[in-house]
Amino acid sequence: MVGTKITEEQIQTVADQVQVHKFGGSSLADAYCYRRVARIVTEYAGASDLVVVSAAGDTTNRILAIIDAKEEAAHDEDSLGIAQVLLNQLKKYQQGLINDLLSGKHQERILELSEQDFDRWQGWLDGEEEITRRPELLSYGELWSARLLSALLIQQGITADYIDARTFLVADDAPEPFIRVEPSREALLERIAPHHGTRFIVTGFICRDPEGNSLILGRNGSDYSATLVGSLIDAKQVTIWKDVAGVYSADPRKVERVVSLPILDWQEAEELARLGSPVLHPRTFQPVNRERMVIAVRSSLKVENQQTRIGQYDDTEPRGKVLTALSEVVLFRVDLSDAKLVQQFEDLDLTPLISWNEVKQQHAYYAYHQNHLDFMTHWLEQVDVHDHVTQMSGYSMIAMVGNRIQETEEYQVFKRELSEQNLRRLSFSPDANAVIAILEQKLDNRLLNRVHSQIFNYRRSLGVLVVGRGNIGSAWLSLYRRLRERINEQMDVRIIGIVNSTRLWLDYNGVELTDWEDSFEQLAKPYEMSQLITELPNAPYDELVMLDLTDSIEVAQQYPSFFANGLHIISANKRAGASGEAQYNEIRTIQREYKREWYYNTTVGAGLPLNYALNDLRNQGDEIRSISGIFSGTMSWLFENFNADVKFSDLVREAKVRGLSEPDPREDLTCQDIVRKLLILAREIGLKLDWQDIDIDSLLPEHLEDISLEEFMQRLPELDDSMQDLYADAQKTGKVPRLLASFARQDDDYVRARVGIEYIPEGDMLANLIPGENIFVIYTDWYSEMPLVISGPGAGKEVTAGGVQSDLNQLLSRLSNRADD
Ligand code: ASP
Ligand code: MG
Repeated sequence: MVGTKITEEQIQTVADQVQVHKFGGSSLADAYCYRRVARIVTEYAGASDLVVVSAAGDTTNRILAIIDAKEEAAHDEDSLGIAQVLLNQLKKYQQGLINDLLSGKHQERILELSEQDFDRWQGWLDGEEEITRRPELLSYGELWSARLLSALLIQQGITADYIDARTFLVADDAPEPFIRVEPSREALLERIAPHHGTRFIVTGFICRDPEGNSLILGRNGSDYSATLVGSLIDAKQVTIWKDVAGVYSADPRKVERVVSLPILDWQEAEELARLGSPVLHPRTFQPVNRERMVIAVRSSLKVENQQTRIGQYDDTEPRGKVLTALSEVVLFRVDLSDAKLVQQFEDLDLTPLISWNEVKQQHAYYAYHQNHLDFMTHWLEQVDVHDHVTQMSGYSMIAMVGNRIQETEEYQVFKRELSEQNLRRLSFSPDANAVIAILEQKLDNRLLNRVHSQIFNYRRSLGVLVVGRGNIGSAWLSLYRRLRERINEQMDVRIIGIVNSTRLWLDYNGVELTDWEDSFEQLAKPYEMSQLITELPNAPYDELVMLDLTDSIEVAQQYPSFFANGLHIISANKRAGASGEAQYNEIRTIQREYKREWYYNTTVGAGLPLNYALNDLRNQGDEIRSISGIFSGTMSWLFENFNADVKFSDLVREAKVRGLSEPDPREDLTCQDIVRKLLILAREIGLKLDWQDIDIDSLLPEHLEDISLEEFMQRLPELDDSMQDLYADAQKTGKVPRLLASFARQDDDYVRARVGIEYIPEGDMLANLIPGENIFVIYTDWYSEMPLVISGPGAGKEVTAGGVQSDLNQLLSRLSNRADD
């Protein structure tokens, strides 16, 4: 029992009034963080509370690196120099904190202690002083942060002091040190009970053995220190302050729209930690008196946010609460015939995430966290039965935690969602507090987001990558801004990036569109398209779409890769839809394989509702027989303005100046653009058509093909004679020439397709378009005597942006239906 110096009454006061708080390394990473922690300790901790701290920032890792470099120096002389550099950096970091946070005598006092410590380190590095045990060196990290935080509080006028846990916490050395509870309790109470009204800062992570040697409680062991200290004084509450608020339905760094959980039961929290969730260290729960204590997990960044309280909450309804995942797990397959080995696995201290037998194949499987691989490898070497064990990698885990999980609706959804994946195993944890799925595949955040939103039934999200920020890109972005609210009704839609051919502006939270052009100038960075594509699946959205608003062959070539990385595509770019048959088929195959959507409404007729009409007819059971018309705004403009009194060359020149033609008008005159549209249309209605199947009458004489643009523009009048002849020839029968595209289904597999000049009667509607107008004349089984005609402007940034938006609307309704089925 406790010694004579303190009374039972004092002990009771401590138990009733003192609570424990814990701050991890990242909460103490710099001076700003320290000040925030000091403020929380003053405002949210009681006057006699204990505050357990980790080493500041990455101090523990830095110390380990120095020790490693020094040990390395035994074989490699350079290593000593490295150790020295690392030590200098550590000193600079630690003393930088002191200088930033303290002043006057407070600064002097702590700096002096720091100097002494670093002298000792230097002596050790120079081989003058012997420090053989790593834990002793590691202990400095926590010692420094406790000492500094208490000095900062004192400087602010708060009564505070720090305690080196090695002065009270005694344990026997073991991989997980075994705490001697009574002497530790006694020593701690003796230290704190007489000082009611002092906030004590206690070092986490460290303790000592009965001989006084330093011991550590394992990596990230400060959570455990906190509950340990709390149990020793029989505290009612331990608050773990984190960078994130409480425990969420999933890791908020990976999953969108998580919800925080006000309450978690001990079993649930323990299972969560066991499954490798980063929220709490598994040992945290060991020392806890579950009937008395509550662990509160709370945000140090947003104190006002909801906290999670972990405690004895018995009769809550069973519910799937938290989704947790490991991107890599290792499986060990053990031959069941080796009974001894199986027994050894069963007896192993480290329990697997999940284990199962496949009796038919005579195999047992044990799945472990990737972090335990070293331990397992080492253990297997000792057991030395390699030929009966096979190590298997390439697996991942996703699990859902909640008491009596099997009875919950959430479990049903989880099971259904994962059945579409490469599921290797799905079963329950031994206490039935979790359902665990082992997948034979990589796990990306997109899958996690999808499962999460399905289970917790949130509004699903769509991330939009805008490729191309020219005319159409700008027009669509301003349209999107105008319609944002309406667009967001169906799904949570955000623009996650805007790219042009050289630079990328990416922000997974959604880019801010006010003054986006300026922001792009400032924030966009050079990028590599292929790298961007493989990184995108990590964007925290249920679905992603790429808007290809370019005319780029390079972007079109990446379509398979976009699909394979999970993006849907909306293109205003014709290059992919009109690519050669082999490439086109590859794009389609991959699109189908990955179940992605691809819309390209605007590639033919810009904003005209052509695809809707065609799809609608086909869905009604009609068959498209032929489509013909004027598919190009440029050609429409040229020919509607052309007659016997006008020089064709003048028109071409004017079209170029007015931006109605391609920069090089030969692109139009060779009819390439029209052929692309024709191909896209034909393929859209399910016809097989490739470039060589199309009869093309180019307007460009061969001798003008390979000269420079400048020379071509000069020699334009060389077109005039033949064009005038053409016109005169048509007039003989009262007709006018027009550049028409057409294809007609002859019988089931033969399609006649043509692009070229045709003579049209002067009164015909094709001969009387507004210059620039497109027209599509559609004959079907039902529209066989009178065609269905769609006409209107076939180019222009506004109508095209509108068409892109129409595709996005279609995608949104498709995706929200998908979620329902
Ligand atoms: N500083 C120790 C570590 O980095 C303990 C902790 O942070 O909880 O492992
Ligand atoms: Mg999501």
